[in-house]
Amino acid sequence: MQQNILRNLNVIKNNILKICKKINRNPKEINIVAVSKEQPFEKIEELLHNKHYCFGENRLLELENKWSYLNKKNLKIHFIGALQSRKVKDIIKLSNVIETLDSESAAKKIANLDISLKTKLKLFIQINLGKEIQKRGIAVCETENFLNMCREKYKLTISGGMALPPKSKTPEKYFKTLKDLCEKNNLKEISMGMSDDYEKAIELGSTNIRIGTKLFGKRN
Ligand SMILES: *Cc1c(COP(=O)(O)O)cnc(C)c1O
Repeated sequence: MQQNILRNLNVIKNNILKICKKINRNPKEINIVAVSKEQPFEKIEELLHNKHYCFGENRLLELENKWSYLNKKNLKIHFIGALQSRKVKDIIKLSNVIETLDSESAAKKIANLDISLKTKLKLFIQINLGKEIQKRGIAVCETENFLNMCREKYKLTISGGMALPPKSKTPEKYFKTLKDLCEKNNLKEISMGMSDDYEKAIELGSTNIRIGTKLFGKRN
């Protein structure tokens, strides 16, 4: 079982190399976030032992239970869950990248944090590409306004855009929309692509893929 995780990681890395060769991209541009939500710590350790340090979590409670006592300096935790503004401070204490900023109230909370918490933090905004009411994220047409507000009113540095395209549809057009939106708004990091569609996402410009199932197996 545990061996499989390393094998899975190598399969993903080899696929990244193959795609990048085909489309002439530098594979170093692509960051793998190992989405460890609902996965036991034994599996995570297998990756840590092999020097993979970038993980994704989506709930504060799990962040605290799994990661608060582990103080590795190389660790890069991406928060990919709903960013409730009343939990922002606690989430940020244990995260290096927030991928899901999508509200003014959270932006305001972040702006008011101690500088020591803010300087190590990277911020991406979540965009709701498919206008899905059950999903969080800024509407495509609101993106520019939201970014201007974050940047001008709250003096935040926003470096990326993240999206979860609608499940049932082919993701290509959503990936293209996110790429265009990010380029237009000076967002250098583009977080798109998960277990089932990361190859397409890389072809269409992703710099940050979020992989759970294809690395760790099914969640509990
Ligand atoms: C769970 C989750 C993933 C990982 O999904 P898999 O299909 O298991 O790779 C990626 N991104 C977000 C935002 C998630 O919540």
